[in-house]
Amino acid sequence: MEKFISCDTAFEKAKIVLFGAGFDGTTSYRPGTRFAPSKIRAESFGIETYSPFLDKDLSDSIENGGAAVCDIGDLDLPYGNTVRVLDMVQKQAETIFAANKKPVMLGGEHLITLGMFKAALAKYPDLLIVHFDAHTDLRESYIDEPLSHSTVIKRCYDEMQKHSSNKKKNAKSVRIFQFGIRSGERAEFEFAKQNTYLCKNDFSTLADILPIIKNKPVYLTVDLDVLDPSEFPGTGTPEAGGVRYGDLLRATEAIAQTANIIAADIVELNPMLDSTGISIALACKYLREVLLMI
Ligand code: MN
Ligand code: MN
Repeated sequence: MEKFISCDTAFEKAKIVLFGAGFDGTTSYRPGTRFAPSKIRAESFGIETYSPFLDKDLSDSIENGGAAVCDIGDLDLPYGNTVRVLDMVQKQAETIFAANKKPVMLGGEHLITLGMFKAALAKYPDLLIVHFDAHTDLRESYIDEPLSHSTVIKRCYDEMQKHSSNKKKNAKSVRIFQFGIRSGERAEFEFAKQNTYLCKNDFSTLADILPIIKNKPVYLTVDLDVLDPSEFPGTGTPEAGGVRYGDLLRATEAIAQTANIIAADIVELNPMLDSTGISIALACKYLREVLLMI
């Protein structure tokens, strides 16, 4: 199997385990994210292993503080069965957590986050979510379907509510931090006002949450449509008015330096809609930086 560049550490020795979940069964507009993990791997040989931004190299050995990433490939998913897909993602993440390693997952559409998030929440009950996206993903359902890439953050919220004690439920403590958001229904934004921290359009208020997430376990979920479509056209539901790659990179670095990122995912790249290949190249570069940061 082709691996993401330089991610060939043995599972036993790895600190980070990379895997793909190329599911696009609930995509609401233009499907094709199922092809993202294999495309990212194939194109990863077009980027350097060295990051000038971080002055770190994916090929640094474990002895020299390298990222030590094991790419275990993609899950073989039953595309027609959303519940089973999420279950398989959860089991895979559980296996990685049980071995005391950090999972990094490549989508696929955003719904797959729910599977890995459940596994992460079981291990870290006080887990927080940092969510970069153009969309709120806080719908209760999408065409009467509660499991959708447009409901995924609401489902994660529900999981947190289920697992927190009654005492905690009464205390108003926000555990979901959303940035770059510029699309959703009015009801979703109303929900966010009460129950999440939401920064519209960009990362302008990121510094406000850093004291809150300091040293806390964080699940980082990055929907790449947070980027402006001019820079990242290869996605199913593009939204004008997005952030630049450099902004995303610096925001990610700030989170990684402040919080304890225990798991991360990068979702919603659709290679079918990327006629020039620039979105795939961006995803490869961003993945390299995330692997080196966390
Ligand atoms: Mn989105
Ligand atoms: Mn999303």
